[in-house]
Parts: sequence; C-alpha cells; structure tokens
Amino acid sequence: RLREEIRSWTGPAKTADGVGVQLLANVQDGKAAAKASESEAEGVGLFRTELCFLSAQTEPSVEEQARIYGEVFSAFRGKKVVVRTLDAGSDKPVPFANHEHEENPALGVRGIRLGWTNPGLVERQLDAIQMAAEDNGVSEAWVMAPMVATVDEAYEFAQKCRARDLKPGIMVEVPSVALLADQFLAEVDFFSIGTNDLTQYTMAADRMSSHLAMLTDPWQPAVLRLIALTAQAGERAGKPVGVCGEAAADPLLACVLVGLGVTSLSMATNAIPAVGVQLGKVTIDQCREAALQVAASRNSRDAKELAAELLG
Ligand code: PEP
Ligand code: MG
Repeated sequence: RLREEIRSWTGPAKTADGVGVQLLANVQDGKAAAKASESEAEGVGLFRTELCFLSAQTEPSVEEQARIYGEVFSAFRGKKVVVRTLDAGSDKPVPFANHEHEENPALGVRGIRLGWTNPGLVERQLDAIQMAAEDNGVSEAWVMAPMVATVDEAYEFAQKCRARDLKPGIMVEVPSVALLADQFLAEVDFFSIGTNDLTQYTMAADRMSSHLAMLTDPWQPAVLRLIALTAQAGERAGKPVGVCGEAAADPLLACVLVGLGVTSLSMATNAIPAVGVQLGKVTIDQCREAALQVAASRNSRDAKELAAELLG
C-alpha cells in the first residue's frame, strides 16, 4: 500500500490541511540536476559544488566553473536553485584548495574558512556563479556559504554576494549560528540547516565514525532544540529557513522539522516521494504538537517513539 502511494505520489507537497512545504533536491552536478528536474523536486536546495572538483589539482578558471554551474541552472530554469560555495575540507578534501595536513580536519580550515588560506577563492567562485546565472537568465541566484561560525563572516559573505546581485544565505552547521540566529539573519536573506554537521558539532561526534551512530543522530533532542531556535528566528525575521541535511529525508523527522517552523526540505531526489506522502497524512497542528513534545524528550529513542505515536 505505502509503496504504491509513494510510487504514484505527485507534488507539490502539502500537509493534510493544505500547508505547502517546498521539497527540493540535493545535487552535485548537471547530470544529477537533470535527473532531479524529472522528479517532483520544486528546485535545488543544495548544490554541493565541491563535489565537482574532488580530483582537481588546480583551481578551474572562472569560465570553466561557470560552465559547470550553468548546467545546474539550466536544468531548473525559472526555479529556485541554491548554490553552495565550496565546502572543501574535512570529509571532502579538494586538492587545489586544501593544502595542509590537519590534525582535526572537521574543526579545521573547511568551508568558508578556505578563503583565509586561499585569497580570492570565494570571490572567483562568486564571479563564476554570477556569470552562470546571467548566461541562464537567472535574475537572483541563491548562494550560501558552508561552515559559517561568526556574524562577521556572514556579513562579509553577504557583501560579496550583493555586489554581484546574488541572494546571500548561510548554512546553519555550527551551533554558534543557531544560538545567535537573530544576529545572523540581520545579515543574510535565508538559512539552510545542515543537520549532518550541526549534529556532529553539537554532539561532538565525528559523522564519519560508525561507532558513534547513537550520537550522530539528528533526533538528538539537543539538535532539535537548536533547529527550533533557528526556525523561530526565521519566523521573527520573515526569512526562509530550510533543512538540507539527511534529516530532511526521514519522513517522520520531516514532519517534526515542519512543526518546528522549517519552510523547505532538501534531500536526495529519490527520497522526495516518501516525504511528500508522509506530509500529506498529517496536519500542521499535529506537526507542531509533535515538534513541541519531541524537542522536550530526554533522548533520541524517546523522540523517535513519540514522533511515531503522534504522526504515524
Ligand atoms: C550537512 O552538513 O548537513 C550538509 C547538508 O552538508 P554536507 O553533508 O555536504 O556537509
Ligand atoms: Mg555540512
């Protein structure tokens, strides 16, 4: 039954009482974007640009980068596409950007911090995104920076984006951003919560370690509380807050995230229909009630059990 419902599901996603939830695709290149464009995805919520360059020994020229980014824009013409600037480092080292050996790469020079050791890298990528947007008739491309930790970084990134007519946002992956969400939102136009890293940094547990799966679980109530703080700040500021980590692809957790106030969910393309089906089975009030209770649980097991009871 459920499998059949998932197979035949068509978007756009709404709760049982008609509240729309934007479901978007995570992509890594033009090919994945083309595939996503044939799905029910309403756009791209996370284009992981670093995955285009995992074996690049030298930095691709602005023109070459623009060509690659343009493939994703052209697959979703007229739709929302969120490009993430290079999140090179840690689990995704990029030869031309990460030069040094680091003792703790997850806590090292990764994401937006790469600009400190590679002057001009971020600016050249933004030039390429601007060029690709112009070539594809995108009037205001959404661009976000990964691994932002301070309000000053958000301010500087936003300045650079606005100088190029790009719509600036940041990922919420470091707990400092959730805790100071109002101040960050005064600088940027949107947030996208990366639950994979937000969980890693909240629980102090390496996301690559199979021994720590109990901790690297976005159902951890501490993580849910940080998401709640972030989404509430988004509501106060009237700015969109999405989730683009693996959490968005878990149908029950997706309902909880919507109940916490998240406005869009971005996930692997093939996860979209199951999330759409589950959202269609619950009302927004059910999602909100579940969110309240789940964020007040003692541990991730209780959180999951409660959610299954209230939303299943
Ligand atoms: C995340 O951290 O949740 C995220 C979406 O980014 P990545 O998985 O690429 O680090
Ligand atoms: Mg991340």
